Amino acid sequence: MIASACTAIDVDQPAAVEAEEPETERERDQPENLSPAYVAGCDRISIGEDFGPLVAAYGVTRGRLNDSPCFGEPDPVVERAWTSLASAAPAALTDSVAVMAGFDSDGGDTAAYASSIDDDTEAFLIAIAVDAGQIDPEELQLTLAHELAHVFTQTTSQLDIAVFADECDTYFNGFGCFRDDAFITAWIDTFWSPQDLASLPIDGEADEPGGLVRCEANSGFVGSYAASHPEEDFAESFAAYVYGVDLPPAVQSRIDFFDGYTAFAEMRDNIRASGSDGLPNNFDTCG
Ligand SMILES: [Zn+2]
Repeated sequence: MIASACTAIDVDQPAAVEAEEPETERERDQPENLSPAYVAGCDRISIGEDFGPLVAAYGVTRGRLNDSPCFGEPDPVVERAWTSLASAAPAALTDSVAVMAGFDSDGGDTAAYASSIDDDTEAFLIAIAVDAGQIDPEELQLTLAHELAHVFTQTTSQLDIAVFADECDTYFNGFGCFRDDAFITAWIDTFWSPQDLASLPIDGEADEPGGLVRCEANSGFVGSYAASHPEEDFAESFAAYVYGVDLPPAVQSRIDFFDGYTAFAEMRDNIRASGSDGLPNNFDTCG
């Protein structure tokens, strides 16, 4: 299930490492001890270990993984998942990913997360559970596309973090205000009623109990997790769109939305051409 794919979509405060951390841990996080090259944000403190110990992390340069990890040992799950996704994605969608990491969730619920690693939402990290990815590589690809959607919808060109909630005329996600021409603004205008928006918690967190209710009432959602929040709705639908998941007719308007953007259609076409599309529909059905 992708439902637990994202529990920390916009964690601006990196997970704190305990103060009593041994000296060796701190030394490993120092730039001069990272191999082969220092990459900003490529360390335990920036990436965090809330969902399990960090296994590997790679710097990402213009959408491409650096040859060697900047943290940990080479990890084939991370390398395969990112390379498969990024080879299909236009640069405009991957340019803001600066670090790609893998962690060991030990069977935990969090399959992946994305987070900004600077103060102005210009650089992001994506982290995936490598143990979950080994068990179900196709689900991992959907999860990774989901996280990528969180990244390219929260860059500076999309989200204005200088605007406070009471000044925001579009939608405030707990971190910033979506710009008038942002993807999420168009998405909300098209698919989210004022009543549904008003039912969301003000902290910007996904509303999973409410998602079950909205999913029950509206067959247009791809699943209850999508119905938990407009950004989760976008991310879930985007992943299903680019990987050609067979969806019920009620979801067609969401598919049509993505078809209206060249970059999204190009990614979908590239995945189709590579034969990686047609992933199974593991979403719960709404309506
Ligand atoms: Zn998410």
